[in-house]
Amino acid sequence: MIAYLENQPGRSPLITGDSYCGQEDSSACDLEAFGSDFGGMVVSIPAAVIRPTTTDEVTAAVRLARANNLALAARGCGHSIHGQAGAAGGLVLDMRALSGPIGLEQGPEGPLAVVPAGATWEEVLRWAVEEHGMAPPSWTDYLGLSVGGTLSNGGVSGQAFRHGPQVANVARLEVVTGDGESFLCSSVSDEADLFFAVLGGLGQFGIITRAWIPLQPAPDMVKWIRVVYNDFARYVSDAESLVSRTEPDLFEYVEGFAFVNSDDPNNGYGLIPLDPTRKPFDPTYVPLGSGPILYCLELALHCGRGDDKFDQRTAEMLRSLGYVKGLEFSAHVPYVDFLLRLKQTEAEARANGSWHAPHPWLNIFVSSCDIIDFDREIFCKILRRGVGGPMLVYPLRRSKWDERMSVAVPAGEIFYLVALLRSARPPPIGPSAEEMMAENRAVVDRCRSAGYDFKLYLPHYRDQAQWSAHFGEKGWRRFVDRKNRYDPAAILSPGQLIFSPGA
Ligand code: FAD
Repeated sequence: MIAYLENQPGRSPLITGDSYCGQEDSSACDLEAFGSDFGGMVVSIPAAVIRPTTTDEVTAAVRLARANNLALAARGCGHSIHGQAGAAGGLVLDMRALSGPIGLEQGPEGPLAVVPAGATWEEVLRWAVEEHGMAPPSWTDYLGLSVGGTLSNGGVSGQAFRHGPQVANVARLEVVTGDGESFLCSSVSDEADLFFAVLGGLGQFGIITRAWIPLQPAPDMVKWIRVVYNDFARYVSDAESLVSRTEPDLFEYVEGFAFVNSDDPNNGYGLIPLDPTRKPFDPTYVPLGSGPILYCLELALHCGRGDDKFDQRTAEMLRSLGYVKGLEFSAHVPYVDFLLRLKQTEAEARANGSWHAPHPWLNIFVSSCDIIDFDREIFCKILRRGVGGPMLVYPLRRSKWDERMSVAVPAGEIFYLVALLRSARPPPIGPSAEEMMAENRAVVDRCRSAGYDFKLYLPHYRDQAQWSAHFGEKGWRRFVDRKNRYDPAAILSPGQLIFSPGA
């Protein structure tokens, strides 16, 4: 039975399925930890944190919130930037309590992982590869994110151009709506609208408790390649030809970065080599007269362990590309190591303190038709000195995104993810979080004033006029209709600042 207990100063009354873990209990949690997120810029202290271990406990928690007029946010790993997984004065569901075990099911479409929504993608990867020799086709770059969290947004990485984002790689979902009812849904079930509503739904329509994720055979190894460009038009032309190829000339993974054309430690060309001890970056190869920014395409191909024709095949696949010769880097790594490639970066960031610094990140989808102008006016002017962290720029294909999902993307078939992954370390080391946020606003203002076809990814707006502009007239009407249908009291995910509880 779930019992609601009054808050105690500084500590959360932890409510679990059958017991209250009091202040003395070692599992009692610090409310402040659940009142902040990876962005580190918003504080929203909840009244209580609930750790549900079953779908029934999620259902009971939602009913409890409704009965007490409390807002409620599911929180996966809290990797949001602007407090989206918070519920100031309300209830937070710590979905990490709902993380196992993962099951295997045989569906008509093939093998499926049955994943509790609080599991991380790293947990899914290890389970799928180590126990079954299989893996989902679509990933994020960093895998310490919850399945429910990325499915509520999109989930993109270098596989998305080919397999679609993670939201397009789900066969079925179990969802608890804002009324406290639980549903099994899929694209062909009676509840298909709920299925599509929660995919990219920013936590507004229901809490995802389980996801059925299609699996495919996992490769042994990955050939991992980086090539460098000084000419953005050539970069774009090559990137778009790579994502438009057909088998057998298709890479498994296509991503890309923008680097400042200097030895800047946070965003300079020294970060491009995959193994700098074997082949460091030699700046004498950068053509004279290059601009302030260099571009790096990152590619990957799957292969077996002793595949000796592989290097020849890779060379053929790279032949038509116009990158700067001499600035190519490659490595041959186990598949799991490739997917977990950011673990080392995370360890270093934790060690040097930047993991816990504020992260004023900005993610934008920019249509191909505007990306050259974006480079000229934004990368090469506003961002010419970098952002104190990685800048991603790589193409995705709209046809891989189902329009029935809630997520908003630009109108053009090819659009780019531009991600400015900033870490704000206090001056004099770098600009403050406020200065970085001001630069983000300048970037978005430029996109707007130039009339670009763009959408914010992981959007953050403060009022309904901005949300309605984000979704467009038709999309906003559908979003509001779905909210009225699935969460009429508007209690879910208040940190997104889209609807007010009880409104
Ligand atoms: P949270 O921050 O906990 O929650 C995000 C939102 O989803 C909140 O509104 C919350 O209420 C809601 N929510 C959480 N769980 C559920 C659920 N089970 N049901 C319904 N709603 C729920 N994104 C990419 O696409 N590709 C990347 O490569 C990528 N890399 C990242 C790397 C880092 C270091 C970070 C910090 C973020 C990255 N992201 C990336 C962004 C990431 O996908 C989102 O921030 C995502 O929401 C994080 O998942 P989470 O579990 O931390 O979600």
